Amino acid sequence: MLRPMWPALTILALLVAGVCFVALRRYRAEAEAERAKQQQEFEALRQQHEQTQARELAQQQALFNSMSEGVLVLDADGRVRLVNQALERLFGTTGDLRGRTVMEALRLHQVQELVNRTLIKGQVDDFELELPGLDCGRSLQVNSAIVLGQDGRQQGLILVCHDLTRLKQLENTRREFVANVSHELRTPLSMIKGYVETLIDGAKDKPEVAFKFLQTIEKHADRLTYLIEDLLTISRLESGQVVMNLQRTDPRAVVERVISDLESKAAAKPTHLVNEVPTALAANADADRLQQVLFNLVDNAIKYGQADGNVVLGARKTDNKQIEVWVRNDGPGIPSEAQPRVFERFYRVDKARSRDAGGTGLGLAIVKHIVQSHGGEVWVESEPGKGAIFYFTLPEA
Ligand code: ADP
Repeated sequence: MLRPMWPALTILALLVAGVCFVALRRYRAEAEAERAKQQQEFEALRQQHEQTQARELAQQQALFNSMSEGVLVLDADGRVRLVNQALERLFGTTGDLRGRTVMEALRLHQVQELVNRTLIKGQVDDFELELPGLDCGRSLQVNSAIVLGQDGRQQGLILVCHDLTRLKQLENTRREFVANVSHELRTPLSMIKGYVETLIDGAKDKPEVAFKFLQTIEKHADRLTYLIEDLLTISRLESGQVVMNLQRTDPRAVVERVISDLESKAAAKPTHLVNEVPTALAANADADRLQQVLFNLVDNAIKYGQADGNVVLGARKTDNKQIEVWVRNDGPGIPSEAQPRVFERFYRVDKARSRDAGGTGLGLAIVKHIVQSHGGEVWVESEPGKGAIFYFTLPEA
């Protein structure tokens, strides 16, 4: 009964097998396509992730590089993971520091010690670091801390370095200035007190001596007045309180006024004041401040020039639209090593001579300030024994 059905069953079985085979192949092809699609999606995701990471790293680096503080990040093995440009500048390093240890990267035992202390304490604040330098060193203040991951495990360490060099220099200048001012004020005051005491003790009864002493007291009181006036001028100039009233100014006319103001002082030495400034020049300047500059320079030229010498004032138009003015005097001049320093506050080549002549040590500092406020420059040229020439420039009107 079954025998006649065999062929039919065989055909049916073959048919079923064929259908299954085709279905399997299609399934496999579909699965393959699905896997390829997933692979593509995965690859796209991976690339996207990498791009995000690279972007974040670049942003992080840009952020670090925009900081004025030097930043150094170490990984859990104590090797450099990140440094910013400020740190490279501060420590003068070159090349890629990543992957190196602190000692290899910075070659400073103090930094290694700081890292060790941070690993023990977790955080170190305000560590002072002095970096040796060619001319003068650098002073850094370093804060450091361990970096922890979300799981609370140590991931590395971060050092942030603040450059205190400029701040320290300013602090030194301020301290020196205060010390100088105190000294300058105390010297005439103690002289005045000394002479007054001597007068009280009996010198007042000897008219000739008393007159001489009173003259000396007057001289020191004048010095105190000049010093206080100069200090106030410097302070006003430095705090920007002085507004330059720039206008078309004739330098020859200003020189004429200064010569007339200093005529009697020049006659006492005696010194011949000569105005050689051409008539056709015009500067864009504050006339009163220009007068102060010229007064200080001519006053010095008389004080430090030789007796019976000449003080000559001249001016010219330069190629770059400036008016260059100079004041020349005869006399011993200024040694070359002192020339760049005479514009510093309270710097004097010969302290005794300056004080004797009633100098405050601030005249040239005031000159420099005023000239620079006009956008000009001031400098001195001098050969020992051949006098000195002070130059300054002003914008042309
Ligand atoms: P001071 O009140 O002592 O004159 P300044 O600032 O005007 O202070 O000048 C600083 C120093 O520069 C003076 O003490 C002096 O030693 C030197 N100096 C200034 N002008 C001249 C000059 N024309 N010739 C020689 N030395 C000068």
